Amino acid sequence: MSTRTPLIAGNWKMFKTCSEAVDTAAALAKNVADVSGRDVMIAPPYTALHPVSEVLAGSRVSLGAQNLFWEKEGAYTGEISAVMLASVGCRYVIIGHSERRQYFNETDETVNQRIQAALKGALIPVFCVGESEQERDSGQTFSVLDKQIKDGLKNFFAKDLAKLVIAYEPVWAIGTGKTATSRQVQDVHEFLRSLLKKSLGQELAESIRILYGGSVKPDNIAELMGMPDVDGALVGGASLNPDTFSAIIHY
Ligand code: PEP
Repeated sequence: MSTRTPLIAGNWKMFKTCSEAVDTAAALAKNVADVSGRDVMIAPPYTALHPVSEVLAGSRVSLGAQNLFWEKEGAYTGEISAVMLASVGCRYVIIGHSERRQYFNETDETVNQRIQAALKGALIPVFCVGESEQERDSGQTFSVLDKQIKDGLKNFFAKDLAKLVIAYEPVWAIGTGKTATSRQVQDVHEFLRSLLKKSLGQELAESIRILYGGSVKPDNIAELMGMPDVDGALVGGASLNPDTFSAIIHY
């Protein structure tokens, strides 16, 4: 039996004005006040982080950001550092989301720098990996993931990665309504955990949470969570509505 506490995380992407984010967060905090035995996180846009952190104070919901830049401060117009995120109450930060890789030229190397900065800043990185449809169809899923994990986690000491969270998000399942089957998800999660075992050792690999992301909904979460190596979900579209997200959290 796993001792990993499940994490259900919501990625709000570029949705919601400040007041919409505050209202949604307040409704969600109320909806999940009774939840125990699992961690909950939402990642609103940067502009709403501070007011949302005030709404979430004392609730079951933690705050996360959708990205960070690795420098602490400086002349980097438009960027936000780990220190800044921590100063507005963030505990988590999503790193290497496929939309960042696809539209904003994120590479495994920059993802590695961001993970380092997150850990140095006492934030919990939610490190996203996943293959494209073409990569899956051509049988490259495991080699793509192997490279993303090895390069993303290069030059770390195992002890520094105790808090790391990994999110497996097949690109073809994000926002498409196509969910990977629970068998496909379990196969990949098992593979990811075996990679972690080889590089970080059995004990640490068994404690790292591996989330699944890609069209998670209230009607497919329970089956996914029934898989032995699925330790939670990273939810996009279905996290925007506090009732739908609450139904997922209460799976
Ligand atoms: C995501 O953005 O991380 C995601 C999984 O999106 P969706 O749930 O909408 O597929």
